[in-house]
Amino acid sequence: MANNNDASNVWDNDGKILGNAPRWAAYRRQLNNEFPAPFRGGTDSLAASMKKAVEMIDRLRPEADGPAFLGKSSKLTYSYPEVKNARIPQKSDTLDNVISDCVGLFEGMPDVSSPLTMSNVWPQPNNASIIASMLPLIFAPNIIEGEYAWNVHKAELESGGMLADLFGWESDKAGAIYTYGGSGCWFYSLKYALSRVLPGSREKGVRTDAKVLVSAQAHYCRQNATDWSGLGMDNVIVIPTDPETNQMDVNALENVLRDLSEKKIPVVEVVCTMGTTDASVFDPIADVRRVMDKYPNPAGYGKALLYADAVCGWSWQVFKNYDFETNPLGFSQSALGVIKKNYEQIKGIHLADAVGIDFHKFGFSPYISSCFLYRDAAEFENIMRRGSYAYLQEVTPYNPMYYTLEVSRSAAGSLAGWATLKYLGIEGLQSVLGGILEVRLYMDSLVERQTEMVVADPDDTGFITLFRVYPKGTDARRQFAKELSDREYRADLIAGNKFQQAVGEKMFQWYLEGHKINGKPTPHIAYSTGFRTASWNEDGSDAEGTVYALKTYPMNVYNNPSVMDHVITCVLAARDEVENEMK
Ligand SMILES: *Cc1c(COP(=O)(O)O)cnc(C)c1O
Repeated sequence: MANNNDASNVWDNDGKILGNAPRWAAYRRQLNNEFPAPFRGGTDSLAASMKKAVEMIDRLRPEADGPAFLGKSSKLTYSYPEVKNARIPQKSDTLDNVISDCVGLFEGMPDVSSPLTMSNVWPQPNNASIIASMLPLIFAPNIIEGEYAWNVHKAELESGGMLADLFGWESDKAGAIYTYGGSGCWFYSLKYALSRVLPGSREKGVRTDAKVLVSAQAHYCRQNATDWSGLGMDNVIVIPTDPETNQMDVNALENVLRDLSEKKIPVVEVVCTMGTTDASVFDPIADVRRVMDKYPNPAGYGKALLYADAVCGWSWQVFKNYDFETNPLGFSQSALGVIKKNYEQIKGIHLADAVGIDFHKFGFSPYISSCFLYRDAAEFENIMRRGSYAYLQEVTPYNPMYYTLEVSRSAAGSLAGWATLKYLGIEGLQSVLGGILEVRLYMDSLVERQTEMVVADPDDTGFITLFRVYPKGTDARRQFAKELSDREYRADLIAGNKFQQAVGEKMFQWYLEGHKINGKPTPHIAYSTGFRTASWNEDGSDAEGTVYALKTYPMNVYNNPSVMDHVITCVLAARDEVENEMK
């Protein structure tokens, strides 16, 4: 018997591991309970363990009126770089231990579900999206092609259809790829554009200094895309923005296009940012399309692509059929005005060739669920196509492996986006967006009632309130107006900036400590170090002539006016403390 341990001596005829089996097989006996069961019936070890894990992580949630972080302490629990000295353990551990360690890693992290969390574009994912994106983890559909995903692919295909229809495209002619983030969508757009504009570049490489045109407000991931694609970051041309609206200056764009056209330099793509991350600025896409069409690329090059980076702004499009007259959801007049303005600005998005959509931003879904949507599927899928792979069988009509960047692709993102669209629907999304806007406008009104505070960006149509707080007794509105408009007050502006920073850091420190004001913990807000320049510094030549401001970015359906009342109280308390410390 001694070493005759081949497989036939390890299992009995019913597939049970024998008592005298070798050690490896004994391990297997334990692990068999810790992989999901192959058959129905009995207890599902996964479902039971999952329930336990969710309950365990839920215990990190604070008590009512607890801090805006998870668990007991917000402290960092490791030192860097020593943390990298970890080693793979020799012996396996129990599932309970590992899951408990895993849950422990969430200790101290900012709590996305807390109404006190309002620091960034960071929405709490809805339940449908969380559950939908967990399900594929169990059966591992690979949406590389039909054979391994089959009907699961419907989530990507139907999302593409629903979104294309939302944006006013023919849904059966459009296509969609879920990919790794808004920066992935950007990258897809650039690859699509390069393939279209520079014939032969897919085989020979990018050998032409063709240009990518973006506004000065465009997201910094333009660098990732131009760098990694090999086009080169120096081939980005930044078009100035209108100082009033922060939108791409179309006259400046036209000048650049004319100049490139005269020099016979091709344009790869023009990117319209449809909703900047903070200030929610939309580039004037209809005008951009008009001037692009006026200056076609020189002979021998394909047509430049118009990409809409709508990862932040896309969902305002759900108001396309909203009746602003009868206002069926009953938004306030002021919210209605802002919603209408946003919709008026996004609605030209059908003019784009492709659109980037982040469900993990204004779609209230988990990472990563970004969708790259293109109007002309026949063109995209044809010019991006790479050969045919004999070893994968085409068993369904949908096989995106021929043109995706990724090879294996998780279905989690597509299920999250798809489930969100079905679950919230148009009215649900309208209510979530409009409801957050109501809270934001309430916050603005609170700041406006304070003489020592001023709203720094009153025309912002997003969820942000940017505001400045001043030392006791200051007439904030008059002071800020002078700092903005008069170079004589440069020193005041800079001192004011330092003051915002000090108050912002005090707030952050209090948040980390779970410090309470009036029995309630300090909210997690942020501050911006230059969302705009002073009016006397329009060209930005004076690096210090920018405006710092405290910022609230509510994105949470649990947020409400009383939370915002508390923000004002806390900011004033932090201001007082900063003033005391400065004495
Ligand atoms: C966040 C953002 C991106 C990058 O998206 P990720 O999902 O973070 O990769 C690109 N553009 C805009 C306007 C963004 O707000």
